[in-house]
Amino acid sequence: MGEIYGIDLGTTNSCISVLKEGKPHTIPVDGSGIVPSVVSFDGKEILVGRKAWNRAAAFPEESIRSVKRLMGTVEKLTLGKNNYDPEDISAMILRYLCDEARDLEGCQVERVVITVPAYFSDAQRRATVEAGKRAGLTVERIINEPTAAALFYDHVSVVAEGAVDAKENAGEDIHALVYDLGGGTFDVSVLRIGEIIEVLASTGDTYLGGDDFDKRLVVRVLQQIKDTEGLDLTDHVPALARLSLVAERAKIALSNKALVRIQEAYIPAPKGKSCSVSMEFSREEFETLTKDLVDRTFVSVEKAMEEANLTPDKIDKVLLVGGMTRMPVISARLEQIFGAARLPAVDPDLSVANGAAIQGGIISGENCEQILVDVTPHTLSLETLSHSDDLLYECIPIIPRNTQIPVTRARTFLTTAYHQKAAELKVYQGESRDPKENTLIGKTMLELASAEAHCPILVEYSYDLNGMVRLVAEQKGYSRKTEVRIDSRNPQLFASQELEELEDEEENGEKGENRTAVNFVTRRARALIEKMEEGERRQALFNLLESYGKALREESDDVDRVEDQLLSFIEE
Ligand code: AMP
Repeated sequence: MGEIYGIDLGTTNSCISVLKEGKPHTIPVDGSGIVPSVVSFDGKEILVGRKAWNRAAAFPEESIRSVKRLMGTVEKLTLGKNNYDPEDISAMILRYLCDEARDLEGCQVERVVITVPAYFSDAQRRATVEAGKRAGLTVERIINEPTAAALFYDHVSVVAEGAVDAKENAGEDIHALVYDLGGGTFDVSVLRIGEIIEVLASTGDTYLGGDDFDKRLVVRVLQQIKDTEGLDLTDHVPALARLSLVAERAKIALSNKALVRIQEAYIPAPKGKSCSVSMEFSREEFETLTKDLVDRTFVSVEKAMEEANLTPDKIDKVLLVGGMTRMPVISARLEQIFGAARLPAVDPDLSVANGAAIQGGIISGENCEQILVDVTPHTLSLETLSHSDDLLYECIPIIPRNTQIPVTRARTFLTTAYHQKAAELKVYQGESRDPKENTLIGKTMLELASAEAHCPILVEYSYDLNGMVRLVAEQKGYSRKTEVRIDSRNPQLFASQELEELEDEEENGEKGENRTAVNFVTRRARALIEKMEEGERRQALFNLLESYGKALREESDDVDRVEDQLLSFIEE
């Protein structure tokens, strides 16, 4: 069967590890094992990793960085004359890691566990699995990065003598907070570590990471160039590419020094010219410049603690993950909240891949004790007609956020009308009651047998260990059933498809037909409301629509009258 390798497919860097004699071992691809997640085309061949990173500085237009931020989108990326999906680029990185590991280790790499930020949506997870497939790999499991880090920490603390504190010695569970600030994403999770590792809460920000810190410094350097050389390079791509590397270097240096000199000659400028910059920059200035970014991470820390229902004194360990946590201000602020003794030294760069390798070992039956319990990162809900005044439609949660997975949950809903012919079931992901603020990840139509109003429909969602969703709906007592595995790879495309369908319905729909909870009259009215400017007319239509919803729900004799009013309003 072969070993299962653990891969941290990071925004900035990636890493591959495997379990050897019960211990995780990072494979030294590109020398250190920390492989830049960069792909570049040199006119002949595609380069990946350190070589691509070196080339990206001079040829940013022929290189792709931070593709992880695009996973789950339909964005096309160009390399040479070819267009690629984000999955293709991630597949190149995965293939490179596995080929290099094979050459270094002398064995085939076929089965992998890949880590993703805990906050990744289903679409992003699905895209990650797809990248693995396109790389010719069998993806055995997708696991959350903080969970992997905790697995590694747990392993280290079990293995390392003297690193185990009194509570663990006494066999009691401990609580850990994993603070993971990488190149492009931020995650924070609260875990209970005992015989099993349980994720109590996880939250974060998919658009916050080291790149944002670098950009702040780039803006500051651009200002300096403007002041000293009178040149505005804000829109000059080659200059920005060079300066982002300069900024990253300065940022990293500021983690060890209180002051750095940013000195760079031959910065590309328009019309084949170049310029230079020389300036001193202090850690204090950098911390002021990026304070709001660090603050944002601590808002998430508070949120995760609240969700886990724990106060800081109940956190026994704080685990740092991601290169950015080497910034002294991060550990200083965590120490302020949790106390210095709670921050053990675990390598922030390698712990995620090593944890994934441990998970791989668990799957392949190696002698590892831990069992992993993971949670859903988002609430999964069903759209229904709302019973309250502020919304027309409302999302009713079926699987709340932070539920342990795998999970299957069901809820009963009622039809709204007599002889309702069908019920449209729309699955949303997100925390809002308002469907417009959540992401539509899938939908299906359940054809109904003729029945009284308020006929029960059982809707069941399942969420598997890879974070994939399955929906089963059944009209109770009539054996009408539908089942879909939701293809949530592409919610944006889905939304536009839905609009097209809506237009078709507008052309084809007939009054009185198929009075479902989301029938075509309400859909047309809702579409119109969305297009209208705020004002009396829009409010009048909204009120009419609400009366119609109410009449439908109550099966009042007014339904036809209100429907006529609504239709004449729409057709005016
Ligand atoms: P990761 O995604 O975990 O590989 O983290 C990469 C991010 O960490 C990049 O933004 C790096 O610039 C940043 N980074 C790496 N080392 C350091 C350091 N010593 N101090 C500050 N940031 C660092």
